[in-house]
Amino acid sequence: KVTVPKPHEQRIITVANQKGGVGKTTTTVNLAAALAHQGMKVLVIDLDPQGNASTALGVEHHSGIPSTYELLIGEIKVQDAIQQSPHSDNLLCIPATIDLAGAEIELVSMVAREARLKGAIQEANIAGYDIDYVLIDCPPSLGLLTINAMVAAREVLIPIQCEYYALEGVGQLIRNIGLVQSHLNPELHVSTVVLTMYDGRTKLADQVAEEVRSHFGDVVLRSVIPRSVKVSEAPGYGMTVLDYDPGSRGALSYLDAGREMAARGAARPAALTEGAQ
Ligand code: ADP
Ligand code: MG
Repeated sequence: KVTVPKPHEQRIITVANQKGGVGKTTTTVNLAAALAHQGMKVLVIDLDPQGNASTALGVEHHSGIPSTYELLIGEIKVQDAIQQSPHSDNLLCIPATIDLAGAEIELVSMVAREARLKGAIQEANIAGYDIDYVLIDCPPSLGLLTINAMVAAREVLIPIQCEYYALEGVGQLIRNIGLVQSHLNPELHVSTVVLTMYDGRTKLADQVAEEVRSHFGDVVLRSVIPRSVKVSEAPGYGMTVLDYDPGSRGALSYLDAGREMAARGAARPAALTEGAQ
């Protein structure tokens, strides 16, 4: 059943923040599951050698499984690597295996090294699967894997943890997005910021949320993801929190975030602001 509007064209969204542990993977898989639950066809591309997104989606990702590594080096086509998540017909995943750990170095000497992912997902016409959303989970660095994700996408989603130093490193991230935009992908823009691990009992969380909202303005989702044990437990069962505990606050907050993203569309920040006036 479709409960959110389908996008006019496929949205490709890179989930990036070079800081580790801010909720990139958690947000990628749970937002993907939320959109899938709301009737969208969603593909998650796991670009982190740790393969945490693949684990959470319950797809196989041991060494040798066709994965983003073989895709980037051009050994296989997208359709050879796409797996169906066992929990949802609408949720697909291209897994990452530990083989991806060497890719950052291998890519350096390759032709069009920044555009390998873009080429791979364009060429294979993933439209054949009628995919509405592609979410790319990045590793905690600004290396070639993240650049490949930024070249393949139109939108960047930045998860920000409601903790001390929340905005640390964000300036560098924004500069890198600017570099990719001016040299490699003029369409790229930050469409969405998600506040994660929000703890309503602390003053700090509110202060951080306020600081992030004044820094980023309208691109920050109104839906905030609470810190919740269920969210952190789910991947241990190869599940998203939507399958693990559908009624939990964590699950509901990701459903809200999905609805909000779908309602906003892929608008640039300026267009968003104009629309709001
Ligand atoms: P990243 O991909 O940015 O490194 P993760 O998504 O892996 O970050 O999250 C880091 C850790 O925080 C993980 O152990 C994850 O389970 C936990 N975590 C993420 N979001 C939440 C949340 N909303 N509530 C509780 N724990 C969370
Ligand atoms: Mg991660």
